[in-house]
Amino acid sequence: MQRSVDRTEEQAVSATILLVEDEPGIVDFVRRGLQAEGFAVEAELDGTEGERRALHDSFDLIVLDLMLPGRSGLEILASVRQAKPSVPVIVLTARGEIEDRVVGLDAGAVDYLVKPFSLAELAARVRVQLRLAEQTTTGILSAGDIEVNLLTRQVRRGSEQVRLSTTEFELLVYLLRHRGRVLSREQILSAVWGYEHDPTTNVVDVYIGYLRRKLNLPENPVPIFTVRTVGYRLGDGA
Ligand code: CA
Repeated sequence: MQRSVDRTEEQAVSATILLVEDEPGIVDFVRRGLQAEGFAVEAELDGTEGERRALHDSFDLIVLDLMLPGRSGLEILASVRQAKPSVPVIVLTARGEIEDRVVGLDAGAVDYLVKPFSLAELAARVRVQLRLAEQTTTGILSAGDIEVNLLTRQVRRGSEQVRLSTTEFELLVYLLRHRGRVLSREQILSAVWGYEHDPTTNVVDVYIGYLRRKLNLPENPVPIFTVRTVGYRLGDGA
């Protein structure tokens, strides 16, 4: 849902968050922390009730544990994705519990945090997801001075208009939607090219090179960072 709030990049966004988590200690920690950041938090400790609230009440964002009594987090996630695709969901997971399956869920405005996590990390992710949700509603994605209009497909760097090919455009949109996060070449390949490529292909590196070249400004290199042996990360520009 849309809220009109006065904000800057660093300011806490006023938003209502549903927390579905069955460990009272974590509920307490997350609730107090997010409230201190200016968010309203409503908590459900049971999966069935959590799913009901997620589907029927209005929330700006959902923080969802995976192992829950009643309904599992993945079941809840699937029904939220279907019924309310625009509501961002941040999944909480125990280390190693689900990592490869979560990667498969990445496409749907889902972020995840591995327990134990810091409140600062959670609050930062919440702010990024809320901003992304709002940008998706307005059709504008941005990071720093890079701006993409999803409706007109226009791309700007500062005051400069940049012409991108279709693939370059899709790659930039994917990086923007996941900015601040390290993305592996495999993730980028399957998200942008849509199928499993030969693992030896360097097509991702080649296209990152094209993007850098087109988006670079003199003395202001585009913040697409190489993460050695893994992939790439677009700076979050906050
Ligand atoms: Ca749990």
